[in-house]
Amino acid sequence: MGRLEGKIALITGAGSGIGRETAILFATHGARVSCVDKNEGANAETVAGIKAAGGDVVAIAADVSVAADAAEMVEATVTRFGGLHIAFNNAGVMLADDGGAVETDESVWDATMDINAKGVFLGCKYEIPAIRDAGGGSIINTASFVAIMGAATPQIAYTASKGAVLAMTRELAIIHARQNIRVNALCPGPLRTELLMKFLDTDEKKRRRLVHLPMGRFGEAAEMAQAALFLASDESSYVTGSDFLVDGGLTAAYVTPE
Ligand code: NAD
Repeated sequence: MGRLEGKIALITGAGSGIGRETAILFATHGARVSCVDKNEGANAETVAGIKAAGGDVVAIAADVSVAADAAEMVEATVTRFGGLHIAFNNAGVMLADDGGAVETDESVWDATMDINAKGVFLGCKYEIPAIRDAGGGSIINTASFVAIMGAATPQIAYTASKGAVLAMTRELAIIHARQNIRVNALCPGPLRTELLMKFLDTDEKKRRRLVHLPMGRFGEAAEMAQAALFLASDESSYVTGSDFLVDGGLTAAYVTPE
């Protein structure tokens, strides 16, 4: 018996990394899944894989930073599947020119905030009424450990955007608690996905990040999907407003043993 039987889920950033792995896992557990990404080719690959495995899934092209797209992704999901119970606002970027405050350009700040912070706000704006109509459900917003710790390799815009996601998530959890809507932030540690590996583009940069990880390795997108599954399912019925850290022990580390 799947852990999401009868549920309808919307996942942004489903074309790659965490979003793709989560879409696959949710479908395996019986959810009908609306896969959203602005990269249509990558999203089509995710959807084809799920369909081939017998899952009920639809691909939706949308840029989460555009209000009309966010409204449309929710409407299309409800039209196709008849409601919405689970929303995973996961799409995000880490731009190559993001760095320290002194050298980071204003345009990098704006672009990062638009997708990572405003994109989550817009998602919630349109998802909440649909989830309320369905009698309640679960929203998961992807933040990051850097929302709590800051990063040792400078990425000021990204860190600030994830702080915004975490703060927004806590408020939403409080405001919508009596509507039977749970809202949690998934806070991954550093992962071996395209987003981070492109950013940490030298061995030295990777080493500087790995030094903070007690497990001595980056996390995997599939490991984040398992956490998202728990937060999405009724198993987490008393969990809301949390900064759900899945970070290989990074935030607990004082000094890392060799
Ligand atoms: P990824 O780059 O593998 O996948 C991100 C997906 O989001 C891509 O398919 C991309 O096309 C899509 N996307 C980007 N901008 C979009 C937009 N405006 N509209 C719609 N789709 C858009 O990245 P990932 O590692 O799977 O990251 C997923 C989330 O996890 C992000 O929010 C990221 O910030 C967060 N995160 C990642 C790490 C890490 O180490 N990789 C750590 C902590 C948090």
